[in-house]
Amino acid sequence: MVNGCGGERIVVAEIIPHEGVPRLASRSAVVELRRVTKRYGNVAALRDVSLAIHEGEFFSLLGPSGCGKTTTLNLIGGFVEPDGGDIVIQGQSVVGIPPYHRPVNTVFQSYALFPHMTVAANIDFGLRMRGVPPDERARRIDEMLELISLPDFGRRRPSQLSGGQQQRVALARALVNHPAVLLLDEPLGALDLKLRKQMRIELARIQRGVNITFVYVTHDQEEAMTMSDRIAVMNQGRVIQVGTPQMIYEHPASRFVAEFVGANVLDGTIETVESRAGRVRLDAGPSITAVCPDGLRPGDRVSVVIRPEQATIAGHPGPGTNAIPGQVLKASYLGTHTQVVVRVTDGTEMTALMAAGGASVGTPAIGEEIHVVWKSEGSLILVEEGSP
Ligand code: ATP
Repeated sequence: MVNGCGGERIVVAEIIPHEGVPRLASRSAVVELRRVTKRYGNVAALRDVSLAIHEGEFFSLLGPSGCGKTTTLNLIGGFVEPDGGDIVIQGQSVVGIPPYHRPVNTVFQSYALFPHMTVAANIDFGLRMRGVPPDERARRIDEMLELISLPDFGRRRPSQLSGGQQQRVALARALVNHPAVLLLDEPLGALDLKLRKQMRIELARIQRGVNITFVYVTHDQEEAMTMSDRIAVMNQGRVIQVGTPQMIYEHPASRFVAEFVGANVLDGTIETVESRAGRVRLDAGPSITAVCPDGLRPGDRVSVVIRPEQATIAGHPGPGTNAIPGQVLKASYLGTHTQVVVRVTDGTEMTALMAAGGASVGTPAIGEEIHVVWKSEGSLILVEEGSP
């Protein structure tokens, strides 16, 4: 089904579970991409992408505009075909099989609801099309209205709902078909920030309630972090890292991932390595220590990752402290902490957080000369991208 009303889109790939196999019996892969490539003319939209998405997980594809997130969704849904590689859904290759001939029921859904139908009729639409008996339809509609916390809204028209309520009805309309996989392409993009934040919590709650696999596309790292069991970070048609939000945030695999999740990154050269501690001469001048992976040697070019909450500012750092001088560009009071943006000596802008009441200096003035300081344990050394 395609609703041509425009707006944000929810795409639903409904996969009929094999008879007799409990859908959530294990954490086996429900969707697999194996070395998939996709080109549009000269543009390599996906380059050698492999992914395994597990049953029942909330899986997000995260990355900047044009990195290939929607292409990945479209390949899973069967709306485009790969140029190379394999796509396996519930153990069966679906490459070359048009959506309507795959062992997959595919339903497209627009964010916009059918305006002339009630909420209940909107949710009922897919059930009616598939000839589900009336009693069961009524039961499943009630179940869905309950799930989306709108039990008394069945008789309303979409125009009588807020944006967030419409979004939840669109979700119910997709979920009522009991798909094994729900593909969502930036479904919260049209909502204002406050509503988006509420809907993140709602979506995660609903997903956990129905235990259906969600594959969610977003360019917003906070959104992905809030809702996902696992995240695939993509860039330029490739998957750069797959992991839990905590893994991605605390152990970024590359400079790109670190910067995408908001960490500070400084370049430098390894001076010494002793067990897991590396001493790095930063291009910006100072020599600092940080957690060092195996295999690095003096002279290697590296990036040092420092997350904002691990950094703070100080007027006169003590000897042996990791510190870099700079000038305050911006200081924003955010209640629980103050966020300070500092331009350090090599021109890099670093973000540091000063906890409320715990700062060694007061809120700094714009232009003030200070140091950004951080602990060795909090910072990570990564091999600089492009290094051999
Ligand atoms: P966004 O967040 O902006 O939606 P995205 O990560 O979803 O981006 P895709 O839509 O998958 O990215 O696009 C990946 C690349 O493929 C981009 O360079 C895009 O311009 C290109 N592309 C996508 N669809 C087509 C198409 N139908 N024809 C030509 N190029 C396309």
